[in-house]
Amino acid sequence: MAVDSPLLNTMRVAKETVVAIEYTLKDDQGNIIDASGERGPMEYLHGAQNIIPGLEQGVEGLVAGDTKNVLVPPQLGYGEYSEKLLQLVPLTAFGANTPQVGMRFHAETNLGMRVLTIKKIDGEEVTLDGNHELAGKTLHFDIKVVSVRAAEPTELAHGHPHQSGGCCGGGGCGSGEASGGGCCSTEEGSEGGCCSTEEPAAQKQGGCGSGGCGCS
Ligand SMILES: [Zn+2]
Repeated sequence: MAVDSPLLNTMRVAKETVVAIEYTLKDDQGNIIDASGERGPMEYLHGAQNIIPGLEQGVEGLVAGDTKNVLVPPQLGYGEYSEKLLQLVPLTAFGANTPQVGMRFHAETNLGMRVLTIKKIDGEEVTLDGNHELAGKTLHFDIKVVSVRAAEPTELAHGHPHQSGGCCGGGGCGSGEASGGGCCSTEEGSEGGCCSTEEPAAQKQGGCGSGGCGCS
């Protein structure tokens, strides 16, 4: 059927739409934590928990071209900081590796695959922190909606958009630092570990989801 273009251009962000946004993320002090900048717009499937709930709620109902300031409290972002996610391990657990404060790595925990950060090294004891680095933080997003389109059936089935280089989206799979988890590696259909090192801060951990990276 013939659809007049203004109708398409005013498609609103709603469940089952694929949305591309540009964003800058700042903390309470106005420091820039992350920005879509060079990576280009972040594309996600709305209503599929691809991104943190507070941001998703903030984008709801917008149209392409809209800009907005979205304030996301910790409980709608990366959660409150939890002391329970701190764990002491002996230095010897690192074997031949020399741990350093700030070092991050993937590890299998009783909460599943997590990114752990070395928080403190005290003699023979190393404190690991399983909190997301943005846990407990209020997030200030400046967003601009770049595009809104209806999701394809396969995208709805997989729970993520299929553009800009496969199911993990543009630039999700980092060439990042101490990445033990072989993100988007072809060898294994790793669930959840995908994209967790260099993922955009707006995206939820494991955002590439249960569909894995192997989808085509
Ligand atoms: Zn997919």
